[in-house]
Amino acid sequence: MKHEKFPGMISRSEAGPGDGGRTGSWRVLRPVIDLSHCIPAKTNKKACFTCWLYCPDGVVSKTIPPKIDYEYCKGCGICAEECPGKAISMEEESSFINKEKSQGCI
Ligand code: SF4
Ligand code: SF4
Repeated sequence: MKHEKFPGMISRSEAGPGDGGRTGSWRVLRPVIDLSHCIPAKTNKKACFTCWLYCPDGVVSKTIPPKIDYEYCKGCGICAEECPGKAISMEEESSFINKEKSQGCI
């Protein structure tokens, strides 16, 4: 929608979880946080949250410890790339699917 006073200005909204639907099934690799290397988890302080800041889908919580919403995480790997503590590893999604199948979860 155009702004009356500033016609060149358009409104936009921030991206949020679920804007693209439940995209978790697109994932080939799953980000897994190793809490022993995660700064807020280790220090019990609200610090870092680089993963929360960089996630393009807004699916990482700014909590201690940070949590990833796998319903929507597409597995792009940006969080793992940017994590200063190297706490996030990208693991084969198929290994989790096999584990969940054997547990009768899916
Ligand atoms: S970027 Fe890495 S160290 Fe920082 S909060 Fe996220 S997982 Fe923890
Ligand atoms: S892999 Fe991508 S979508 Fe998933 S939590 Fe990390 S940055 Fe967000």
